Amino acid sequence: MSVGETAPVDDQTRETGKLLKRVPGRARPQKEALREFEKAVAELRQRYQPVFWPLFVPEPKDMFRWRVQLECGCTREVYTRGEDKYPDDRSYLDLITRCRLPSGEYWCTTDHGRTQKPYRDIVEWVDRKVTEFPADPEEPEYDWMDAEDWAKIRKPEPHSSAFWRVKLACGHYAQVCTDVDWKPENGPRLVSEERIEEIRRDFEESWAAEGHTGWPHEGPERDHIRKMIDLRWPRPEPERDCFTCTHVRRITGYQRIGWLVSKTSPAPAPSPNIDRKKIAARLAAAEAEVQRLRKQLDNPDDA
Ligand SMILES: [Zn+2]
Ligand SMILES: [Zn+2]
Repeated sequence: MSVGETAPVDDQTRETGKLLKRVPGRARPQKEALREFEKAVAELRQRYQPVFWPLFVPEPKDMFRWRVQLECGCTREVYTRGEDKYPDDRSYLDLITRCRLPSGEYWCTTDHGRTQKPYRDIVEWVDRKVTEFPADPEEPEYDWMDAEDWAKIRKPEPHSSAFWRVKLACGHYAQVCTDVDWKPENGPRLVSEERIEEIRRDFEESWAAEGHTGWPHEGPERDHIRKMIDLRWPRPEPERDCFTCTHVRRITGYQRIGWLVSKTSPAPAPSPNIDRKKIAARLAAAEAEVQRLRKQLDNPDDA
């Protein structure tokens, strides 16, 4: 796991620590964990200027180790800043979008087999980047496309598109492409009543003729097409399939391992009295020296 994923979660209403339990398996050796953490810290230090280190680069001595169990049964090691925080007090990273996951979720890297991406409503158009493209080539860009179809969609001039980061109802982020002049307040563009009837007929015919093999297959994708037809083919679409949903799992339990850097008993603090005495003695000596030098200046013959 990356060490930079320690953003706190501002959800004060959650009952923290309620998932403490025995997590099966064993923690790896502390030395190994520390070596890996220090390597990641070194990489973060290269990425940020020193002025930002206190913000973005965690100190190994502040980190507390936990084993967490996910709903898929997988176990992982995570860190919290200090022992009073719990693994579901913080958010983890979406490994594809690099955005924060909702608290209590963790990206499982185990291959649990293919699952269909669920469609989620877009709840926020967060920000966008405009990308410029050169004119499309004269020949079809795709092997499977014939020249006639290519001519219909080919853009003969340089063009640009806006790539939006959107937040979905599940709390995850995805990307949606729109025309550059489109704004969220415009709402989606719809096709005419006549055009949507053509689209509906084309899909229904293809699904009827090919049965279960028609594109897209019966399932979330075909349900999505049906919904878009009912909404008169909105562009941009009001929902998006969520890849993150197929990879994240809820944290179902956690167990303490210990500090990443062993806490040795601190050396006894120097007594403030001793320090004061030493300083007072040095001050007295300095004052005596000043007096001696003054005298010497006033009476140079006494030297
Ligand atoms: Zn898993
Ligand atoms: Zn999602």
